[in-house]
Amino acid sequence: MRMQKPPETKRYHALSDDLADRYGKKTFKVALDGGFTCPNRDGTKGVGGCAFCTLRGSGDFAGDRRLSLRDQFDAQLSIMKRKWPEGKYVVYFQAFTNTYADSSLLKRLYETAAGLHPDIVGLNVGTRPDCVPDDIVAVLKGLSSKTDVTVELGLQTIHPTTQKAMNLCYATADFDDAVRRLHQAGLAVVAHVIDGLPGETPAMMLDTIRHVARSGVAGVKLHMLHVMKGTALGLRYESDPFPLLTLPAYVSVVCDQLELLPPDVVIHRLTGDAPAELLIAPQWTRKKFVVQNEIDKELRRRDSRQGAKCARTHDDL
Ligand code: SF4
Repeated sequence: MRMQKPPETKRYHALSDDLADRYGKKTFKVALDGGFTCPNRDGTKGVGGCAFCTLRGSGDFAGDRRLSLRDQFDAQLSIMKRKWPEGKYVVYFQAFTNTYADSSLLKRLYETAAGLHPDIVGLNVGTRPDCVPDDIVAVLKGLSSKTDVTVELGLQTIHPTTQKAMNLCYATADFDDAVRRLHQAGLAVVAHVIDGLPGETPAMMLDTIRHVARSGVAGVKLHMLHVMKGTALGLRYESDPFPLLTLPAYVSVVCDQLELLPPDVVIHRLTGDAPAELLIAPQWTRKKFVVQNEIDKELRRRDSRQGAKCARTHDDL
């Protein structure tokens, strides 16, 4: 599916605009919990999980996994409809590793989710780059004839030292391989990247984004590292605090990264959500509007935009 480029007046290609253009209405993500676990927790790939991963598998705003998909969806829809009576919906499997099951079970689960409401227009599946075997790619491809399927791959960083320190238990080559096979199947891929991981310099964060830009993914999700209670990183931080990016430093890195991304890459987010009661640091991430405004302000100050320093667009890939 060809992505649209941002209008000239916009400085980056935001997901909300992309969805509204594509479906003709405001479109909401509805985060469901499919009851998965993760191979980096059960010993298959590793134990303990990624150092920043929360008890809810980094899906802290997903529905309640004790409920059926139907009940999770209806509960969230009734809250949304109080403010937005109309809309289209993308079902989002975010918590844990949402391709970590038998392919026939996954097929049933995805089809059930996609059929929960007539206004569902797509399915987003978040997973690890080393957990998309060919039979599951085939399931996703089959589903893409009925609804728009996007696979969100957690990359976070391309740097092996950080991957090891964060106990990711996958390598950049896993990401490259997954992107290649998903693209061969005609599926849209979003890369998830975390800025401010311990030990990383801004230059390293830009290296990660250059790699993502070259991969040809359709979308990027960027956010600042959250140090959360109940995580390995949180424990480490509380006993021996390490430096974290300040808001101005984060804004500067994000604007540099936007300049490196092709203009047609959809920006899924530039700020993160973290439940206030679980967030240890940095506290400035709680002010999402402030972060967003500072990014907009910095792009205006530079008179810059997404793709300003990118040599090519997807048309050239
Ligand atoms: S791969 Fe995802 S779910 Fe698994 S431990 Fe890492 S962040 Fe958590």
